[in-house]
Amino acid sequence: MTDTKPVDIIFTADQADRLRAHLFQENQDEQAAYAFVSPADSDECLRLLVHHLVTLGPDAFLEQNATYLEVKPEIAAQIAQHALEGDFGLVEIHSHPFADESVAFSATDTDYALPRFRWFAEQIAQASGRAFHHVMLVYGISSADAFYYNRADDAVQPVRRLLVLESPLQVTAIAPAEVSSAGSAPDETGYAERTSRQIAAFGAEGQRQLAQIKVGIVGVGGIGGLVAQQLALLGVRRFVLVDADTLEVTNLNRFIGAALADAEAKRLKVEVVTRAIQSIDPGARTTQFAEAFPTAAALAALKDVDVLFGCTDTHGSRLILNALSVQYLLPYIDIGTGIFTDGDGHITEAGGQFRVMLPGKFCLSCIDAIDSAQAMRDLLPLDARAEHQARGYIPTEDIPAPSVVFLNATLASLAVGEFLNLIAPYRESASVVYYFMQTQELRRIGASRSPDCVVCGAGGRLALGDLDYLPGLEPARKLGGFPTP
Ligand SMILES: [Zn+2]
Ligand SMILES: [Zn+2]
Repeated sequence: MTDTKPVDIIFTADQADRLRAHLFQENQDEQAAYAFVSPADSDECLRLLVHHLVTLGPDAFLEQNATYLEVKPEIAAQIAQHALEGDFGLVEIHSHPFADESVAFSATDTDYALPRFRWFAEQIAQASGRAFHHVMLVYGISSADAFYYNRADDAVQPVRRLLVLESPLQVTAIAPAEVSSAGSAPDETGYAERTSRQIAAFGAEGQRQLAQIKVGIVGVGGIGGLVAQQLALLGVRRFVLVDADTLEVTNLNRFIGAALADAEAKRLKVEVVTRAIQSIDPGARTTQFAEAFPTAAALAALKDVDVLFGCTDTHGSRLILNALSVQYLLPYIDIGTGIFTDGDGHITEAGGQFRVMLPGKFCLSCIDAIDSAQAMRDLLPLDARAEHQARGYIPTEDIPAPSVVFLNATLASLAVGEFLNLIAPYRESASVVYYFMQTQELRRIGASRSPDCVVCGAGGRLALGDLDYLPGLEPARKLGGFPTP
């Protein structure tokens, strides 16, 4: 038997709402739907991202009642055709409207599943050689069960969990929870005792979630370093850290956990932050990328995180992180601060913002939060950057922006509080919040999806997963040329 990876299925909030309304109707008949999914395959797990849903109306069935459902052969053939022609995998979904807390597949469900799974896998293998990801999923009123066909073993395995990108995040565990190395018993690192004071505030289940999840942080400088340490204090134990920079003496006014010796030794920020995390929690694990973002390796490590933090404050990395979030259905929290001065030691304006993007609801591009011209300049390779500087297109010296610890810490804390609200909710969620330092005001802003958004609208990259190129690493397209006859 081959090593089987856990399989998760991820829905946007809209898809989950539509599906639920369809599956549980007033007549209380069984209902059916199909989800066409893109794979996001990583070392740790296989995530199946729901790209689109097809629901079946009453005309699609030979027989439909409260306990039995039979799809017309011509409809089944159309669905099969659609799945085989595209590159998508297939999740077959139906409801058991009278099952409540512990829905289970019927004998009819399982008897016919394996031959059908084999047939699909065979068709795809002959036509293209690609893997076909095939799942059967049944919903009861407040429960679900699902299994995945693993062709290598010619066997089915339970799906691990269903995720809905709603605020708070909705997680339905199906397979029994695995015991991960982080957080395993016996608790030699004092995890339970260390977190006991906060369990009273947001519950043991919330703490259990925090101990399991994996967080990606791109930019571990003045803001990201604080976010990382606060998350470790809350009990997050798995991190992917991305930052190419070494620590400088000029960072030491705002880099909690760093020492002068780190700057003198030119230690990498990812190393200094890892040390800070592990001094809080010796059981925490980080994967470090000291590389200029984006690289293929860093993107591959980020594509299965549970929550993605963007703490770089450049439009180039925002452009990439936003696309990654939309393409791989990753909840994404962007944080930025700014201090503007009269050049003479006086602040004219200062503050910051955090934004929480759940793919399918809205993205940074929907709300015009990315300056694409600036993003292009940020993402230029170093040699091209030098050329642009020589021609005077961009300044040769970056003027260091003013930065202070208390402003960074305010925004880091607000964003970490909202992160917790996603995992272990304690109040209504906020998606965009501005902080005005001079007037000490907080303002919540509404945000919604733009139907023409080039990133998450129709024709964009929403839920394309591994079916599209990694953002920022698309093959170069020729610009300004004329088509040759
Ligand atoms: Zn059934
Ligand atoms: Zn968008």
